[in-house]
Amino acid sequence: MNLSIIGTKASGKGTQIRRLVDNFNLVYFSPGEMFRQAAKKNTPLGLAAHRAIIRGDLVADDIVNGLVEEWLWTTTPKQSIVFDGFPRTLQQAEFLAAAFEDMKRELDTVLLLEVTDQTVMDRLSGRRFCRLCRDEFHLVSAPFQACPYGKCKGQHLRPFDEDKPEAVKSLIEAFKRGIRPLLNFYKKQRKLIRVDGEGTADEVHARMIQAILPFR
Ligand SMILES: [Zn+2]
Repeated sequence: MNLSIIGTKASGKGTQIRRLVDNFNLVYFSPGEMFRQAAKKNTPLGLAAHRAIIRGDLVADDIVNGLVEEWLWTTTPKQSIVFDGFPRTLQQAEFLAAAFEDMKRELDTVLLLEVTDQTVMDRLSGRRFCRLCRDEFHLVSAPFQACPYGKCKGQHLRPFDEDKPEAVKSLIEAFKRGIRPLLNFYKKQRKLIRVDGEGTADEVHARMIQAILPFR
């Protein structure tokens, strides 16, 4: 079983993927982690990705795909992979389909974790960070109790600039625009499953399990 999970910031994607990885013994894949590993190994593709990241650019599809292909060959068909944040573009999706076909493997399903814009706003508006120790908190899900470094009493907590409503709105818009071609691609192949991301982590986890059940 190989799956990809798509979700915007604050969709709960990270939490849900961690739980799936633990419960189903999945191999976790994220492009960010792959870039770090590749840069350490000093391979041409790894260095090319590293240069793009240093410049603040997106890593070009060809480089991402090349690295993913190298990485895929280090896994075996018996392993189940969960892709986090990949594919991100139509070109990457087409590449993954072709690469898996060469390997006689398949991306079984793509889960879109759906939450309303309001939920994203609410979740992000509760985030705080300490200006002194840089630790992160959340008014609802991880309230400040004590400074882990014993430096403060919570008087330096501030919201993130990037969590301002206008910034979040444009982030959501950009996310929706960006994934539209991907969703169409997977819809046509009947691989797209929309999972309701509202509610508690337990409720969402139960829905995720339901969604992947046919592929296990
Ligand atoms: Zn602090």
